[in-house]
Amino acid sequence: MYRTLLFSILLLLFFLPATAQQTDGWVCKDTRRLAEAEAGHAQSLLNFRSSAFTENYDITYQRMEWTVDPATRYISGTVTTYFEPLTQPFPSIAFDMAGELDVLAVRYRGNELSTFSHLKAEDRLEILLEPFFQGNPGQIDSISVQYEGVPPTTGFGSFVQSSHQGIPIIWTLSEPYGAKDWWPCKMSLNDKIDSIDVQVTTPLPYRVASNGLLAAEIPNGDSTTTFHWRHRHPIVTYLIAIAVTEYEVFSDFVPVPDGPDIEVLNYVYAEDLDEAISRLDATVGIMEFFNQRFGLYPFADEKYGHAQFGFGGGMEHQTMSFMGGFSHSLQAHELAHQWFGDKVTLGSWQDIWLNEGFATYLDGLTYEAGLYPTDWRSWLAGKIASVTSRPDGSVFVYDTTNVARIFSGRLSYNKGAMLLHMLRWKLGDDDFFQAVRNYVDDPALAFGFARTADLQRHLEAQSGQKLDEFFNDWLYNEGYPSYTLQWTAGSDQVELTLFQQTSHPSVDFFEMPVPIRVSGQGQDTLLRLDHTRSGQQFVADLSFQPEAVQFDPDYRLISRDNVVEQVTRIGEPGWASAVRLYPNPVRSSLQVDWPEQLEDPVVQIFSPAGGQIRHLAPNRSPAVISVRDLPAGLYWLTIRSGRTRLSRSFAVIR
Ligand SMILES: [Zn+2]
Repeated sequence: MYRTLLFSILLLLFFLPATAQQTDGWVCKDTRRLAEAEAGHAQSLLNFRSSAFTENYDITYQRMEWTVDPATRYISGTVTTYFEPLTQPFPSIAFDMAGELDVLAVRYRGNELSTFSHLKAEDRLEILLEPFFQGNPGQIDSISVQYEGVPPTTGFGSFVQSSHQGIPIIWTLSEPYGAKDWWPCKMSLNDKIDSIDVQVTTPLPYRVASNGLLAAEIPNGDSTTTFHWRHRHPIVTYLIAIAVTEYEVFSDFVPVPDGPDIEVLNYVYAEDLDEAISRLDATVGIMEFFNQRFGLYPFADEKYGHAQFGFGGGMEHQTMSFMGGFSHSLQAHELAHQWFGDKVTLGSWQDIWLNEGFATYLDGLTYEAGLYPTDWRSWLAGKIASVTSRPDGSVFVYDTTNVARIFSGRLSYNKGAMLLHMLRWKLGDDDFFQAVRNYVDDPALAFGFARTADLQRHLEAQSGQKLDEFFNDWLYNEGYPSYTLQWTAGSDQVELTLFQQTSHPSVDFFEMPVPIRVSGQGQDTLLRLDHTRSGQQFVADLSFQPEAVQFDPDYRLISRDNVVEQVTRIGEPGWASAVRLYPNPVRSSLQVDWPEQLEDPVVQIFSPAGGQIRHLAPNRSPAVISVRDLPAGLYWLTIRSGRTRLSRSFAVIR
């Protein structure tokens, strides 16, 4: 009841800003709007890092010269790629390029090549360089592809032509597999482009938002303008984007101690200008907070920005997030991605939680820091309710052909965020935040790519804790624990027995430090139980008489349906010596004896993982209980009578 009510309030809070979209939890990509176009290429996307035919060269630079009119769904342009061959000989170069686009010309070393083929069914442009190629590995070369066409739209809408209040707009959103829909590129999660120039020509009065700094705005004298955006940091292909419409422009500035202010450049619709001005300045405080926690904004020498677009959510395009609205969470989430996703980019779509789990968690940290009036505990309760709304599902993405699964709000966003929160609890604040800082600053990862193992390595190095079991249980396997806590008050101590059952058979026990708050006589203390097996008993000395016990009062753990029971006894009840379980070990039938005078006994059997598997109220002693259907293992049997209780273990053998 408490949890349900909290969750409803939380959903209400999230829904109130009309611009924030929901699926099963808050997401920056709205998976309800997914197109189904990926199916045809499913096999090639399984464990995708790059297309095999693009792996023989390294991109150093790209210049995109595009012409678009937001009123027409169409693109034309020239993409020039500077590359370093990684093999010798290097007879040909290939790009990912949708079959719907048409190549007009290929230029190489002053020659127009006719030796190319656009394999349209495979979305692949193959260019034979051989008669002209004179280069060597290590020597940078360049090639230009001129093209045009009506791009297909896949994923979340990789190339969208739409309108707002009757004003046309074109925007792009390439994540995960959509870049090739609108330009000849190398779709890669192992090769960033070291720098780019984006030059977009469009009719007046439209403006173009893109990555990096606006280097020039060139009137062409023919009622068109060319917007030249220049970005001088490594960038992954899927983060390159343009949005073109009638934009109003304004800036906020983020103060930096001992450095120049960072500009936050906002491109918004005229009809939303007032709202944008009043709401987007929240980014200033959020960026100051992230700068202090995770190191200076990675692209501080250029800018950060927002460009409004018509998508239900947001997209963290490097240095220029595209925004469907201006909610605090959306601002925090997309800004967080500039560190987690853009500076350090996932090395495989299997590891999407390294992008989305972090961005979701960093949004939560702004609530914890009080940058937004919503309660942090409600935020956590909402995430836990989302994660545990189903008993299954791993954070790690085994099927990267399924875009809806990659961007699952429940698993990649919310469970990913709660994994980070649990790691923080397990390691302690100091080690956790230092390890995350080490991860995002690691020269081998920064402005490059990371896998889950890279994060795990940093967490282990900083804390000295081995985390294989944690990642196996929480990331690669499925489900969550439910706890039963039985406690008994002593005069200045508390005795606790902690059982656990799991929601999914892939994990038989989640080994976790479990927080328990004990209070009484106006005092309280937080116990941290190192829970290593179900049925484990703990005794804690207190400076007060315990009166109440709370399980995980601060929402540190993913868990659900927890039960806290008070058992009034110290030690075993007086009738304990008369209880017998036999045979033990047992194969088929367990017999239980107890003294005849015991009133209304209740017998429960718990599995090795802690789940209750039998519950009976026998009317006489002995009770005979069949255990034929139980797998081998160590089980617990409890007998209760009134407020007394006795636990005994027995072994089932096969
Ligand atoms: Zn995101």
